Amino acid sequence: MSNLSYNPFEIAQQQFDSVAEKLDLEPAVREFLRQPMREYHFSIPVKMDDGSVKVFRGFRVQHNDARGPAKGGIRFHPMETIDTIRALSMWMTWKCSVVDIPLGGGKGGVICDPRNLTEREQERLCRGYVRQLVRNVGPYTDVPAPDVMTNSKHMLWMLDEYEAIVGGRHPGFITGKPVGMGGSLGRTEATGFGVIYVLREALRNLNIDIRNTSASFQGFGNVAQHAVKLYQQYGGRVVAISCWDEADKTSYTFRKKDGMNIDVLINITDAYGTIDKNKAKELGYEVLPGDAWIGQDVDILIPAALENQITIANVHKISRQVKVIVEAANGPTTPDADKIINDRGIFLVPDFLANAGGVTCSYFEQVQCNMNYFWEKDEVLARLDSKMTSAFRSVYELAQNRNLNMRDAAYVIAINRVAQAVKSRGWV
Ligand code: NAD
Repeated sequence: MSNLSYNPFEIAQQQFDSVAEKLDLEPAVREFLRQPMREYHFSIPVKMDDGSVKVFRGFRVQHNDARGPAKGGIRFHPMETIDTIRALSMWMTWKCSVVDIPLGGGKGGVICDPRNLTEREQERLCRGYVRQLVRNVGPYTDVPAPDVMTNSKHMLWMLDEYEAIVGGRHPGFITGKPVGMGGSLGRTEATGFGVIYVLREALRNLNIDIRNTSASFQGFGNVAQHAVKLYQQYGGRVVAISCWDEADKTSYTFRKKDGMNIDVLINITDAYGTIDKNKAKELGYEVLPGDAWIGQDVDILIPAALENQITIANVHKISRQVKVIVEAANGPTTPDADKIINDRGIFLVPDFLANAGGVTCSYFEQVQCNMNYFWEKDEVLARLDSKMTSAFRSVYELAQNRNLNMRDAAYVIAINRVAQAVKSRGWV
């Protein structure tokens, strides 16, 4: 999407191949797991408000459903590509597996720019998406959720369309619904909070007091905003945040060395995670080039925007002070940059472990929908913390015992579980 010189699907396959080799997986299991089981490509005609019809391309990929129904978000993005979705669906399989929830991996997307669509047009697009897919998704088949530039409102339109077609009420069809309409409390915070739960555990194991740390973030959307909030609650200091500015077609980094006030910053940020640069300047923020977030003298870097952001071209800018990188976004680090980070001894928590809080809470949402009994927010967050912490600990333990880095250890656990499931089912 953002950096077309890297193909995320090829990266996902390379990562898989290298772990498959370490695990000595049988050739048929490798062949089966290195590509999606199913994918759907379709056109969605949408009646626009001016009476014209626009046709959008949509995709849904189900990488693997051996451990449970496919699960994964739907992205709306003008530069969406099928290979991005293939990669993300594969990472969803590993993500659900590493946190040990009974779901598989899927992902969807539409090539569109919701910033240029009215509410009514977005609603028709959501309904059109479901109409194209209704036979191939469902609570026991494939369960969508929000992702980049989609939200709870889109999910409810999609659920409503699904229920209108199949009849009855099926709240388990989709997650990320609004609270009060089948959504779970805590879902909005879940991914960002999950990132900070694993950061807390990483720092604990590295004997670093979180209260003495500083961090720089890329992105200020749903994930980053909640991550910043909890990190500050734990006593960390956020020095820089970078985000995209659609009006200027570039990104900026906002810096305040003595730390940022998250509530003030959210007040000057739009629904797409863009900080208003003029207001930020008035509030005393330095406005720097977009990639400045990566070169800050901080202890922690948290990429929370898009894939392919830490590359061979900018990895050398990472300050010597950086001790931990937590990948909040999916696929933010390219393999060549990953190798350099590893060689430098920076402790990296890989994406599919770090950002698994969202899907874990989506799983809780399905459980609550099935019971028709909804938990208090504290209960949701406590269960989330416990699931993320225990996943982190298993990966950390394996990494220590087998002398692996965290990414490889997480892959070993995740791929082993899925390989076991496809073999136990007798598929390969
Ligand atoms: P979002 O759309 O709410 O926010 C994205 C943020 O990234 C915005 O602030 C945007 O301005 C910024 N951004 C975009 N391009 C940029 C660039 N080139 N430079 C700097 N900033 C840029 O998205 P989100 O839901 O916060 O998701 C962020 C990442 O986390 C994505 O990789 C997504 O796949 C992943 N993720 C999200 C969830 C979830 O629950 N929302 C769960 C797991 C993973």
